[in-house]
Amino acid sequence: MNHSENFFSQAQKVIPGGVNSPVRAFNGVGGTPVFIDRAEGAYIFDADGKQYIDYVGSWGPMILGHNHPAILSAVLKTAEKGLSFGAPTPLEIDLAELVCQLVPSIEMVRMVSSGTEATMSAIRLTRGYTKRDKIIKFEGCYHGHSDSLLVKAGSGALTLGQPSSPGVPADFAKHTLTCEYNNIESVKQTFEQYPDDIACVIIEPVAGNMNCIPPKAGFLQQLRELCDQYGALLIIDEVMTGFRVALGGAQQYYGVTPDLTTLGKVIGGGMPVGAFGGKKEIMQYIAPTGPVYQAGTLSGNPIAMAAGLACLTELKKAGNEQRLAEQTEKLALGLKALADKHGIPFVVNYVGGMFGIFFTDQPEVSSYQQVMKCDAEKFKQFFHKMLEQGVYLAPSAYEAGFMSLAHSDEDIERTLQAADKAFAEMKT
Ligand code: PLP
Repeated sequence: MNHSENFFSQAQKVIPGGVNSPVRAFNGVGGTPVFIDRAEGAYIFDADGKQYIDYVGSWGPMILGHNHPAILSAVLKTAEKGLSFGAPTPLEIDLAELVCQLVPSIEMVRMVSSGTEATMSAIRLTRGYTKRDKIIKFEGCYHGHSDSLLVKAGSGALTLGQPSSPGVPADFAKHTLTCEYNNIESVKQTFEQYPDDIACVIIEPVAGNMNCIPPKAGFLQQLRELCDQYGALLIIDEVMTGFRVALGGAQQYYGVTPDLTTLGKVIGGGMPVGAFGGKKEIMQYIAPTGPVYQAGTLSGNPIAMAAGLACLTELKKAGNEQRLAEQTEKLALGLKALADKHGIPFVVNYVGGMFGIFFTDQPEVSSYQQVMKCDAEKFKQFFHKMLEQGVYLAPSAYEAGFMSLAHSDEDIERTLQAADKAFAEMKT
């Protein structure tokens, strides 16, 4: 038994499934999860000291690479002054101003401690503001694990094959209407059925929780138009895509303006931070200026704010956005070329700093149905062959991959060499 196997059996005795978030248990790929000891730059090191090139990046936050000196030093300096006050700090203003500057549709922003809280609070705000109960989400999109949003969800819910969870009362779920991603007709029909009842549409602007599915040209704009036509609000959930698909998020990349945006992951630079923000008039509808209640003991935590501020300040430096996209493209096109060389049916999607790989002979993968037709068994084989060779991919066929600024050309070359070998073995 290696250390990870030992830790896993120990963990399973005191933590359900041995993990604090389901997808980490490797249920989607089988085998024992790798227990991590430390991380640096593009690499994570497991409890046995083995190094992996990491394309998970803590599921997105580590966009600068692990243990970035600017973030580490900001965290240490801030910690010396106290860990939490439950009272406002200037750091909160600095981060809020930077977020408003980077994402122009955000005029005001409220900090929370996770993406789940951000989307849950944003949904409540749209319901309170519009005085309507129903919401539209898309099949395969994941917006955290709050009751209203855990209906036909992606991510771990998909990996476990339970996209709608027991424990979500049918009375709550009935207000969540689900449409097909990249199918505007399904949204039109739903609005026609409930013209006066829909508070908001919430969408992942690039779906990253059913692998990686970019929106079809015009899809997000058409959503915007339908929301305007029916008096519903548009929430773009940029928890994953924010600052990653582009500095101004996927909304900047695709040129669509939401009413509210939700953020997480990168905004905390590895510390637990989420946020929701948008039009002033709507944001002022939350407490204490408005009637919709929302709060948090650790919201705006100084260390988390300092980490997020350092992360975004570093990220916005000239050339970084472009470099992240270039490295992602290098990896994506490299993998596709190798799969073709070995005659393995393969599709790759990528945008900005995120990517997804699919084992399939379909010409493209742009819908939930097409994702479900891909060969999850082939993915499992590939995943383990890469893991053996020191490349850590997301342990599920339904998760996106994440590039960081720490990934060098050599890291990508090493990854492609490993993939070359993996594909060659998979043919036999
Ligand atoms: N929204 C999106 C698009 C996500 O990808 C996630 C998490 O992966 C969430 C919301 C929930 O964020 P958290 O896990 O921080 O609660």
